[in-house]
This record gives sequence, C-alpha cells and structure tokens, in this order.
Amino acid sequence: MTSSPKERLFIFDTTLRDGAQTQGVDFSVEDKRQIAIALDSLGLDYIEGGFPGANPTDTAFFSERPPLKTAKFVAFGMTKRAGRSAANDPSLSQVLDAKADSACLVGKTWDFHVDVALEIPRAENVTGIAESIAAVKAKGREPMFDAEHYFDGYKANPAYALECITAAHNAGAQWLVLCDTNGGTMPEDVYRIVSETKAKLPDAPLGIHAHNDTEQAVAVTLAAIRGGARQLQGTLNGLGERCGNANLCALLPTLLLKEPYANQFETGVSKDQLAQLVHVSRLLDEILNRAPNRHAAYVGPSAFAHKGGLHSSAVQKDPKTYEHIPPESVGNARKILVSDQAGRSNLLARLGEIGIDVDAKDPRIARLLEDIKQREFLGYAYDGAEASFELLARRALGQVPEYFDVESFRVMVERRHDARGELATVSEAVVKVKVDGETFHNVGTGNGPVNALDDALRKDLGKYSDTLKDLRLVDYKVRILTSGTEAVTRVMVESADGKGNRWSTVGVSPNIVDASFEALADSICYKLFRDGARDA
Ligand SMILES: [Zn+2]
Repeated sequence: MTSSPKERLFIFDTTLRDGAQTQGVDFSVEDKRQIAIALDSLGLDYIEGGFPGANPTDTAFFSERPPLKTAKFVAFGMTKRAGRSAANDPSLSQVLDAKADSACLVGKTWDFHVDVALEIPRAENVTGIAESIAAVKAKGREPMFDAEHYFDGYKANPAYALECITAAHNAGAQWLVLCDTNGGTMPEDVYRIVSETKAKLPDAPLGIHAHNDTEQAVAVTLAAIRGGARQLQGTLNGLGERCGNANLCALLPTLLLKEPYANQFETGVSKDQLAQLVHVSRLLDEILNRAPNRHAAYVGPSAFAHKGGLHSSAVQKDPKTYEHIPPESVGNARKILVSDQAGRSNLLARLGEIGIDVDAKDPRIARLLEDIKQREFLGYAYDGAEASFELLARRALGQVPEYFDVESFRVMVERRHDARGELATVSEAVVKVKVDGETFHNVGTGNGPVNALDDALRKDLGKYSDTLKDLRLVDYKVRILTSGTEAVTRVMVESADGKGNRWSTVGVSPNIVDASFEALADSICYKLFRDGARDA
C-alpha cells in the first residue's frame, strides 16, 4: 500500500486582531500576551497580534514580542493611502517597523468599494496594492495580502478582483487571503470562486478569511480548502466582528479527525496539542470573564453530555453509540447528567462514577430516583452541585450519619452609624444546634446574613469543630426561579478546604437566607463525611 504525501495546511489565528473587534471584548496587553502564548502552544502557524499604530494597546503589544516558540508573529495593517508613496505613509510605516515576522495588509478588490469608498481611479488602487506589498518585502518581512470583499468583488467584476490580487502576487505576497468580509457568501460560491482563482493563478498560495454571518464560516473554510486554499484564518471560540470568524475550536478538530481532511492534509497541530484545545478555549473565556458556551461544538461542557436515560445506558456499553469522536481527543470529557429525564440506568452510572456500588434492583434506587425528580421539580439542580447529590444518594442508602441537628436559627441585619459616624451594615446570627445530645447556642457575625450564619453554624460544633477549621466558602451564586406561581431562590455554594478539595452544594427555598443555610449545612456535612467523621 502506498499513500501519497499529505498536503500541508497553514493555520492563521486572528483572535487578537479580528477577535478584538468583538463587541464587549477589550484585551489588555497582558491578555494578548497570555493568549498568544496559549495559541503558540497549540501549534498554529501564524498569530496576528493586532494593528500596530491603530491604538495604544496594539502599539505596546508590538513593542515587545511575545515569546513564541514556533508560530510566526504577524502585524496587520492597510495598504498605503492614495496620493502618498509607501515610504511616506505613517500608518504603513508603523506596521513595517513592528517587531513581527510577517505583515498582512488589507486592500480593496471590489470595484464598487474603490469607486464609492476610496473614490480613486481603479488602476491607482492596483498600483497602491503592489507598492505596499513591495515595501513589506523590502523591509524583510513576509508579505501577505488580505483581499477585502474578494467574493463580492469577484461576483461583481471578476477581472478586476483578479487584477488586484495578481498585482499583490507579482509584488511578492506570500499569501493571497481571500476574505468574505461581509460574511454572506455561500459555501458553494466560495468553492467555485476559489477554484476559478486557483486556475487563473496556479502558483499563488491562497488563503481564506470567513465570517460567520450565516453560521457557515467553518463550512465556507472547508469549501475553500476543497477549492485550493491552503491558509485558513480563524479565531478561538469564533470571536470576531459581528457574528464572528471561522471558529478554530471547531475547524481544528474537523481537520485532524474528519475525512477527507485528516487523510489528505496535515497541519502544524499534533494530536497531543489538539488535546489541549478545551483548555485553551476555556482560558480565553476566563480572560474575558465569560461562561463557556455550553453547547459549543467539540469544546462545550455539554458537547459530550448525555441526559436521556436511553442515551446514557448505550454510551455506557459503547461510547460510539452517541459520540462522534472520543471526547478526550480535544481534551473534553463525557458527562452523564442526572436530570428530570433521568432513567434508572443513568442514575446507576452516576452513582458508579462517585464510587457508590449498589444493586440495580435495590428498591431504595427507585425511591431515590423519585426523590430527585421531585426535588428538580422544586428547583434543585444537581448537575452543578455534586456534593449535594452525593449526600442525597448516600443518605437514601443510609450511609451518612446525622452529624448535627439544627433546632433553630435567627438572623438580624442592622444598618447604623458606627463609632466613626459612618453608615455600616452588620449582620448577626444565632444558631441553636444539637451535637450528641448536647445543645450549642452559637452567635456569629458577618458583613451579610449568610456570612453571619456560616460563622455561627461553625463556631462550635463540638467534636467536629477541628475538622471544619480549614473549610472556606469560595463562591456563592443566587438564582431566582419561578416554579408554578411562586418565585423560589436557588443558592449554590462552592467550598474548599486546606487539602485542595472543592465541592458544590445547593439549597432551594422561597426565602434566600433559608436556601443559603441549606447549602451551607450540606457543605459542612460533606466535609465531615469526606474527612471520615463517619461514626457520629
Ligand atoms: Zn474579518
């Protein structure tokens, strides 16, 4: 058997340039540095850092090169302005002077834009492109040409669009990147236009820059590859102007794992690097302080989550039944959800995951399932509260002792002037709790009622007090839900301890303090159980 050598595809990331145009995204210099290093670790070929000279952040970012191991660092800019020489254009000079390996210059290729936006003779636009690309080459940087509105331009006037990119090619551009700037071109049109362009300019390396305005940027990019494009531009998590750019988090796994691409092409991204994809995708979300898109292809937290009972029982037998790729190939993980759709097999699988072995026919399993359904109806959510779920299950199986019994609690919130005459809000809580037949009256204080309750509940729990010393609350989330006609509050508490363990608990009540107290009490029980305080 002989196999023909694979053709190389080059990946060009524009998260830091086009992605920086996303509404609500505002990268700092340090953000850009961190993202560039993460992109480099994935094995991408080009990282476009921004537009030096266009804003202070980008200018600063280009004044000190990020420490990239393999990727080439690219500065973005515009072809020279009409009426000036390339050497005399201050904007172009800043791009040429940037500490970068390559410069990608965007220029017009649609006659309509030249007539209406630039208002210069069409021939002048063509010579401007050639002079600008030649200036990049003379500076010793790798020149690339971003052919703006290429597909719309080609449809309107193919001869002129080709004339523009031919000028860039003849001037030394290493890549002619065909841009679907408005993002509305269909994949079949992209395939046809790239194929025709390739036939006219067989020696010119072509690239594709697709926008997602019809939710097809990845499909457009794949169509361009079939037509002959070998450089693919995109962004992490599909960031970018308007509806975004081609999403590299969907494109990369498709190229590496799906046919015909996997067999026909290779990229600079190894299988090991691909397994870092979820990590890099989440890193970007962290930097942007955004929750990850649960349903994102390949990398979303729900991309391999199985909810329906039938699905999860089949996945247990063979993951291929409901998974198109192994989740670990992109660094993702399979999740089996307990939900109101959960069947018995789903629940058993979930119990198995947390180390609870129980016979499928055990009548307590049916009762537990009923209990979970009832609670989810009331507003409890166990997908994000693993510790409360485990306690619920172990209690149903009689495995969790009753460590303490809360007889009552009371919270007071007071707003008053303090000793310095400044307005302050303080909370005080009293908890009456019984441990081993002994009653404790604990008083706690805090800057809010939940804080004060937590302080009071843990102040003295008799023989358990030592175990709870390193417990701390790290996150607290409140959500108002409507169930039936009443509004109820769901509180999620995330706790941590000195051993580096983290766990989440949930409480639900029409009263926010009550819901919080329930989640706090669960957190303490879980800590005691985990640390082996099992014989009360
Ligand atoms: Zn763009």
